[in-house]
Amino acid sequence: MGPLAFEIAATIRHDGQGGVADGLATVELAEAWVQANASLVGEVLGRSFDASLLVVDDGVREQLVGVRRAVRSLFARAVSPALPSKADASRLLDPAAALRRLNEAADKLGTAHLDWPEEGEPVTRWSPESSDPLDLLVGAIGRSGIDFLAGPERLRLRACPAARCVKYFLQDDPRQTWCSPSCGNRERVNRHYQRKHAGQALASDL
Ligand SMILES: [Zn+2]
Repeated sequence: MGPLAFEIAATIRHDGQGGVADGLATVELAEAWVQANASLVGEVLGRSFDASLLVVDDGVREQLVGVRRAVRSLFARAVSPALPSKADASRLLDPAAALRRLNEAADKLGTAHLDWPEEGEPVTRWSPESSDPLDLLVGAIGRSGIDFLAGPERLRLRACPAARCVKYFLQDDPRQTWCSPSCGNRERVNRHYQRKHAGQALASDL
């Protein structure tokens, strides 16, 4: 798993059949995403996040989709001049609007204080103005986006260039081109096929 902001961006992925699957398309999917990522939310907050306190309805889903759009718009900027993910390249927020949206989300966590329990490690504790679990969730995603984009991991962010892939991924090694071995294999097969057909077209012209 990547950081929380990366995980929400990854809810847009290829469906394996040339289309795009949206992991936040329905309230049920959004609820499942929140549950699956509760521990990452807790890591950002510096304390555990109880996903069961949040009633996921369409309003919550829309908030998640909104902050995801800001994150993905900034991911597009981060990989530039390489091309962004094709899934939402035509409906990205402009950078200023995306920054505003992400910062507003992060504001919900309030101020950072240092807490250093006698028996334990120093940790960042946030002092949110509300204990609304939606504010905490959106705030954690915003905060995670800021830390990710302002930190060293941004330099490893890539948009997979495979024809049917729409994924952002974190490059493990400078030679890694594709998000996964299956994208690499599929592209090699495609290129081989295209070369073969280009060769045949040439032969029939002669
Ligand atoms: Zn891929």
